[in-house]
Amino acid sequence: MLAEVRRTPGVTRAEIARRLRLSSGLATELCARLRELRLLTEEPAPARGRGRPTTVLRAHPEGPLVAVLELRQEDWRSAVASLDGAVRLVETVRHGPGHGPADVLAAMRSGLDRVRRGRERRVRAVSLSVPAPVRGGRLVENSTLRWRAVDFADLAAGTGAPLLVGNDAILAGVAETRTGAAVGAAVAVHLILEAGIGGALILDGRPMEGAHGTAGEFGHMPFGDRSLRCLCGARGCWDVVVDGNALARSLGDPTPSDVRTYTETVLARAASGDVRAGRAVRDAAVALASGLAGLANAHDPDVITLGGLAAPLRAAARDAFDAAYLDGLMSFHRAAPPPVLDAAHADDGSLHGAAAVGLDHITTESALATWSDLHP
Ligand SMILES: [Zn+2]
Repeated sequence: MLAEVRRTPGVTRAEIARRLRLSSGLATELCARLRELRLLTEEPAPARGRGRPTTVLRAHPEGPLVAVLELRQEDWRSAVASLDGAVRLVETVRHGPGHGPADVLAAMRSGLDRVRRGRERRVRAVSLSVPAPVRGGRLVENSTLRWRAVDFADLAAGTGAPLLVGNDAILAGVAETRTGAAVGAAVAVHLILEAGIGGALILDGRPMEGAHGTAGEFGHMPFGDRSLRCLCGARGCWDVVVDGNALARSLGDPTPSDVRTYTETVLARAASGDVRAGRAVRDAAVALASGLAGLANAHDPDVITLGGLAAPLRAAARDAFDAAYLDGLMSFHRAAPPPVLDAAHADDGSLHGAAAVGLDHITTESALATWSDLHP
């Protein structure tokens, strides 16, 4: 029932009973129990036609919550998520000039305290998105922030809520399969282009995270130029021929300090008719499409979603992208190529994905049992 309310906010009790094949008596009883446990609340549904009156189910105003934190390159954000899947942004705070891990984590900890204030007992999990590979709950390395091996364990210490740490690209992929462009996909590939390429393979709404949590580093597959070595240490990485650094190399510009802004500038120059910028953008879009075809061949997904700058890069050279994608697919895929869709969550994917993972956590059987012990 909780899952249905999350999937379809504003759903009626009658509709849930129909979907779950419950008698109306049993549905009424379950709702009463969930109300007692402060999980759901009911309000009369607007009368429609001649059907029997029913109620709309919503998250209980005193129910459990997830505190969501999202660390980004330039700032961090906090939000609160309720059982109906609603995510409410609390604040956005830019990093100070030093932006070392100690300062940023201290600021995020006070942000978490502001999220919890007045609802300390209701916040049952803290879900954190970080812009880097995550291994054993620690950030491995972020070259833009110049952070390495950062441990977040203290962030939620003393709150009584477990801390869940996830990679931003993987979480954005989760959000697309739950409430975005890939809803209903059994197998989805999400790809995000920012300073590099990241993403996730998502199976039935859950990310394939690898044995140690670092799967999805799609940018470091050798779809690139074997004569070039990547900053990651490997040779021939796909990243190196797609991202803003690739554009800078094609255009003879110095390595950009802010890859995202530089990429947006080059896309704008191409759109305004700059021929050299147009050629660089087309080459990058073709490299992106060829690699995506490789991912499609490898994973046979229902759908591929594009996040970050991948969508505008494709849009800037749509014909060349489409031709390269088809050309890279194994011929048996070409009759019905896996659709490549723009992500629906735009810049909020990681935040919504972190909320979804947190809500999964607080609605497990054992988490609900703990909650009901607190509200006998
Ligand atoms: Zn690499």
